[in-house]
Amino acid sequence: MRACCIHWFKIAVLAFCCLAGTLAVPAAGAQKSDRPNILYIMADDHAAHAISAYGSRINQTPNIDRIANDGMRFVNCFVVNSICTPSRAAILTGKYSHLNGVPVFNRFDGSQPTLAKYLQAAGYYTGMIGKWHLFSDPTGFDYWNILPGQGVYHNPVFIEMGERKKHQGYVTDLIADFSIEFLKSRPKDKPFFLMCHHKAPHRPWQPDSKHARIYDAVDIPEPPTFNDDYRTRCDAAREATMRIDRDLTRTDLKQDPPPDLSGAALKHWKYERYIKDYLACIAAVDDNVGRLLDYLDQSGLAENTIVIYTSDQGFFLGDHDWFDKRFMYEESLRMPFLIRYPGHIKSDTVNDGMILNVDFAPTLMEFAGLPIPSDIQGHSFTALLRGEKPKDWRTAMYYRYYHYPQDHRVQPHYGIRTGALQTDLLQQNRSMGTVRFAERPARTEQCLSRFCLRRHAEEIEGRSLSVEEGSEG
Ligand code: CA
Repeated sequence: MRACCIHWFKIAVLAFCCLAGTLAVPAAGAQKSDRPNILYIMADDHAAHAISAYGSRINQTPNIDRIANDGMRFVNCFVVNSICTPSRAAILTGKYSHLNGVPVFNRFDGSQPTLAKYLQAAGYYTGMIGKWHLFSDPTGFDYWNILPGQGVYHNPVFIEMGERKKHQGYVTDLIADFSIEFLKSRPKDKPFFLMCHHKAPHRPWQPDSKHARIYDAVDIPEPPTFNDDYRTRCDAAREATMRIDRDLTRTDLKQDPPPDLSGAALKHWKYERYIKDYLACIAAVDDNVGRLLDYLDQSGLAENTIVIYTSDQGFFLGDHDWFDKRFMYEESLRMPFLIRYPGHIKSDTVNDGMILNVDFAPTLMEFAGLPIPSDIQGHSFTALLRGEKPKDWRTAMYYRYYHYPQDHRVQPHYGIRTGALQTDLLQQNRSMGTVRFAERPARTEQCLSRFCLRRHAEEIEGRSLSVEEGSEG
């Protein structure tokens, strides 16, 4: 077993080394004269399985789907640390949490290099509008207008270039309004890079009046794992406090449950209250994605603008009886990632290559014709966007979650996910939890040892892990 693990680990390292060698391949459209504009739209906590382009069983997102229809849909996009602030830092820097300095909800050091800074220095007009949630003021942006902290849904305060202003209206509409205004007022002699970050559909899931009742007449189906009894799970799964049946608050539910309900009926009622508000918030996001796409069409910008729709991580939609994220389970680990770039990315295509949120920065930098600094840990996936399938593309990803015990008592853990099997190794002498998939190569299963995990983690983090961190399961 141990010899097999060493062999497998060497293959993984070799694959990453080979991968680095492919990064010099220039992207199409990288000449300075025709550098693309970039519209990066990111929601907060929008799971891929609540997007119809991803086959959602519970809602329709026709405008978000337009990006998939016009471009490429990635089905294996993953976050390296599944909570809001760390994911945003990883996206901006192209680095994992242990290097960008944001493993939990802590202040982002804005003096470090970021995607926005690189693009701004290269002549892009850069903007950041909406939820920032990095506790320091944005840097690298010519214009920024952000929510303080999490912000609120109704009549929110925004901080515009350091000045607080209260606005009337619904936060999702306002973020789109400000984004369209940014596009209208931008200097026309520069390409633009706009990060449009929605607050929705983050907890406490407060819809606007237009969408609040749209699911009143339907019963949203429960997910297949809704009644997971955790018998095959580790202690950490049982101990987490984010269950539909017991951890949703009065603020989440907005009303008291009917007094005659109990047991499964009460749990289903809570799920319906939760998921309908969550989906109604997404409906407003979808409408406003449509407004932005319409503006690009009407203004003649669509042809030379890369449009991305993603979320800062996935989310549990009643899966395993949970809401929230954090765990290295599929629903939380997986990010939606849709991208279009007319003439450069083939329309209506699906890519199963494994990409990570740390890859976004180097990918966009390559599209902008910029060199990728050696300290960026992510890899540009422009080859995948061109429809190529590099033989040495990543086949495993490293994940690490640090935040405990606040909010939901999810134990810190780390692990690797391959194409066929995911495992997570918990710190603090917890038992190993394993999620098994229908298709899995026998050799991969043999490599599921603490030794393998620890060695892989040490390779990514560039340091030895302590016994407490890694070698005891
Ligand atoms: Ca989030």
